[in-house]
This record gives sequence, C-alpha cells and structure tokens, in this order.
Amino acid sequence: MRVLSLGTLKSLFIPGGVWLLGVVLLVYSGWLTLALPVLSFVCYCAIAGGMLLAWRFHSSRIFLSLLVIFLAQQAEAVSAGQPPFIPATLVALAVLVPVNLVLIAIMHERGFTVESVAPVVLFLFVQSLTLTVFCGAAVRTRSLSIPVVLPRYAIVVMASAAIFLSVRFLLNRKPIDSALLWSLSAFFLALRSAALTRMSMAYWATSACILATAVIENSYLLAYHDELTTLPSRRAFNDALLRLKSPYSIAVVDIDHFKRFNDTYGHDTGDQVLRLVAANLGRVTGGGQAYRCGGEEFNIVFPGKTTAEVLPHLEKLRETVARSEFRMRGKDDRRQVPRGPDRRNQRNRARIRKGDAIRRLAEGKPSSVLSVTISIGVATAATERSSPETVLESADKALYRAKANGRNRVEAATSSQRRIRSRAAGIA
Ligand code: GH3
Ligand code: MG
Ligand code: MG
Repeated sequence: MRVLSLGTLKSLFIPGGVWLLGVVLLVYSGWLTLALPVLSFVCYCAIAGGMLLAWRFHSSRIFLSLLVIFLAQQAEAVSAGQPPFIPATLVALAVLVPVNLVLIAIMHERGFTVESVAPVVLFLFVQSLTLTVFCGAAVRTRSLSIPVVLPRYAIVVMASAAIFLSVRFLLNRKPIDSALLWSLSAFFLALRSAALTRMSMAYWATSACILATAVIENSYLLAYHDELTTLPSRRAFNDALLRLKSPYSIAVVDIDHFKRFNDTYGHDTGDQVLRLVAANLGRVTGGGQAYRCGGEEFNIVFPGKTTAEVLPHLEKLRETVARSEFRMRGKDDRRQVPRGPDRRNQRNRARIRKGDAIRRLAEGKPSSVLSVTISIGVATAATERSSPETVLESADKALYRAKANGRNRVEAATSSQRRIRSRAAGIA
C-alpha cells in the first residue's frame, strides 16, 4: 500500500481537517456570530453525544479522548474565568493533553469494558486533581496575552504528538488517528485563543465534534471495508453494482490452492498472503476497483470498460501477483500453526506439505520466501439488458475454466469473447 497516495491524503484531511479549516475560516472572516452560550451548548452536546456514540459502538478510545477534551476544557474554563488568568494551567494542559491523546492512540482497543476504561479514567482523574492543586495557586500575577504564548517545550510536545499521529495514520489509515490529530490541532487553537472565550469555545466544540464524527467514520469503514485487507467489502461491491451503467466489466479473482497454503503454513501466514494479494489488487490499473467479497475471493469492477479493454490490465495484475514474493516470519513463529477449521486438516499436513502445488509455489526459493498465484474470470455487460448478476455468473464460469485449464491464468467469458470477436469482424 502506498503511504502517500491521493486516497490516503484525502482520508487524512476528510472530515477532520476540512472541519477545522472551515471553523478557522469562519472565525477569521468574522462570520462566526454565535453567542458564547450557544457555542458552549454545541460543545457539550458534541462531548455528550460523542461519548454516547462511542459507548454504543464500543470505542473506548474515542470515549476517553472526549473525556480528555472535556476535562481540559473545564480546567481552561475555570482558570480563564478567574482573572488574573493562570497561564500555568494552560502550559500544563498544553503538555498533558497531547501526551494523553498519544497514549490513547497507542492503547489497544479492548471494547467498552470496565477493565479497559476504569484505569484510564482513574489516571485522568489523578491528573485533573494534580492540576487543580498545583496550578490553581501558581503564577497568578501574569495576565493572559492574545494569542497565548506557550513555552517552546510545550510547542515541541504538541508538534511531536501531531507528527506521531500523522505518521501513525499514514501507516495504519485508521480514522481514529486522523481524528486525534485534528482534535489536537483544534485543542491547540483553543488554548492559543483562551483569552477570547467565544473563539476558544468554537475550537473546543470543533475538537469534540471531530472526535464524535470519528465514531461514525469508523462504523462506516467497518461496514463498507474489510478489516483484514482494508479493501472495500461485499456491501460496498453491492452498492457499486447499483450505480453501474453498461458497458462495464467484472473480474472474479480467486487465489490458487489457498486451502493448501493455509494447511501448510498456518492460517495467519494465509492472512498475510491475503493482505499481499489484496494490496496488489488495490493497485489494479485500467480504472478497476477491487473488493473483497469472500474468504479469498475478490471482485474487480471496471466501469465503462469491455473485456477486450481490461484483459491487458488483468494479465498484468496476474503477472505482478505471481512475481511478488512473500517473506514468511521465523520458522518457530507460532503463527504457522493452523487454527480454526484448518486444524481439522492437521493430520494431513505431512502429506500436503509434499503436495506439488506448494512445492511449485516455493520452488527455487529459500523456505521462508513464498509466492502465490491467482486465477481470474472476467465478463462484460455490453447492453443495458445484462444484469450484474448474469455478468457475475459469466465471470464465475470463466474463473472455473481458468482453474480447470491449469490456474494462474485469465479467462474471459465465452459469450462476451464471441461478441468482441464479432464486433472486431464488423458483424455486431
Ligand atoms: P482453488 O485453486 O481451486 O481455488 O483451491 P483453493 O484451495 O484456493 O480452494 P478454495 O478457493 O475453495 O479455498 C478457500 C480457502 O480459503 C478455504 C479457507 O481455508 C481459506 N480462507 C477463507 N477465508 C480466509 C481468511 O480470511 N484467512 C485465511 N487465512 N484463509 C481463508
Ligand atoms: Mg475460493
Ligand atoms: Mg482458491
């Protein structure tokens, strides 16, 4: 997967970055005319609503991030509401909030259980108490300037956290990382404008809204994307079919001898191979979009393309997968042990290990370097009358032929081939 593809950058900035940019423009253009109570209401609604959503969708990390923002906002409101202002609180917040958000980002999501949430809530409570005790009495003499000038070390902590979250997002592409990044940015702007309560509250509300939206964004991703390969899922494929207008082509892709692969090297190695194949499918050329529609079965949709047009791209894809090598983890890796349904086949493993298919896959390479091949069947909907179901059926039949003819090959549906041939001969 390319780290800096257009799609990745788009998902980094949408919706969090765009949301924040919109609020910054509103604030600086003077169009933000909402009164402070309205802004406070929006902020608390976003915090409460986001926490409720996070609880319903078992996202303890979003819940805790919203709690951090809520506590920070309360600390800022208390200190800024009692002139002379207390910059020490703001400085402490500038360090504590980014550190907490980074800790939440690296926390393992274990659902919404008392064991996973309670220790962090306790940790945040201790921090709030310490902040109240030590910063409440500190540096009461200095008044707050606009914008608040934070010490360099606080800026360094904040910038490091932002860089960490950006890199994490680019590597994992999880909406929570981008939400934390933009929420942190909004928090930074809220602190800088702490002396202007209305502007500050607009940024606090933005920070909370960005986090609340991440719950919805995450649920959307789970519903429409496959977690293992990150490719769009069957649901997304079914949606795409509804929007298709002929001509279009659908390719059905199936990994060759994958069951034996699982039996020989273990289910987790199989999962890694699935990711490798999916990464190649995701980069298919010719305007195709790949979907993971079943275990090791993928579909590629080519809108506006006929079989003749997509065949070179599928051939290139097949070759790329066959050429790409996969380095298996250490020999003692427990991941090589089959799990799930494949355990049933453990007795047959010795026999299968000698299987010629796998030997062919790993032929001439160190035992830890594996490769895999795919078979592809493709069909085209040339007229408005051909439904996606019939096109899929034809592509499936073509895939069976590819398997029967020796695998690691691309076969086109015979009817469309005939049609293409007739068109080329000027008959159609
Ligand atoms: P063929 O060349 O005829 O396609 O042979 P095959 O062994 O690939 O047969 P088939 O396509 O029926 O194999 C499907 C196997 O895919 C069964 C199951 O072990 C494996 N599989 C399905 N989903 C997953 C998954 O998410 N992870 C892993 N590791 N394996 C999976
Ligand atoms: Mg299959
Ligand atoms: Mg297969």
